[in-house]
Amino acid sequence: MGMSRPIHYAAPMSGYCDFAPGHPLHGPYHDTEYGFPQRDESVLFERLLLEINQAGLSWETVLKKRAGFRAAYAGFDVDTVAAFDETDRARLLGDPGIIRNRMKVDAAIHNAQVIQEMRTSHGGFARWLDAHASEEGKPRDKASWVKLFKRTFRFTGGEITGEFLMSLGYLPGAHRPDCPVARKLARS
Ligand SMILES: [Zn+2]
Repeated sequence: MGMSRPIHYAAPMSGYCDFAPGHPLHGPYHDTEYGFPQRDESVLFERLLLEINQAGLSWETVLKKRAGFRAAYAGFDVDTVAAFDETDRARLLGDPGIIRNRMKVDAAIHNAQVIQEMRTSHGGFARWLDAHASEEGKPRDKASWVKLFKRTFRFTGGEITGEFLMSLGYLPGAHRPDCPVARKLARS
């Protein structure tokens, strides 16, 4: 406390508010998606899938391939992806429109199956997130979220989990406080 800065929540994309606005790919994402809460299952699944696929690459690469991901992963329909078989796996691993990485493909399919189970256990992915958003009456911190994600999903390390949750407003820090989008989100 005191003079120390809250580096615990330093965004991997800090500086995003400076360079994203006006950029053909980053601009719309920054202005209308990044940090905005979402409830729709396929939107949440898409975000998780994109964050996982970003690992080792740039967010710009992922945004460039977004349409390719959408086509290859059945519009991010959880039931369709959860049922992908070996033929689908081979198709995905041969699709230059996405990131052809076996672990990332396997994670997408496995995580879709996990999200299916959340419908029964919690009433869906959004409600599962809500149910875990606080711990002992306080907002769950990043370290605790990461533990939870590691034991729930596949391919969700600290950076992926933190960025996924920040991008949905479950963790603070997506935008600089003086960013117009931060002010818009604070009002809503
Ligand atoms: Zn911003």
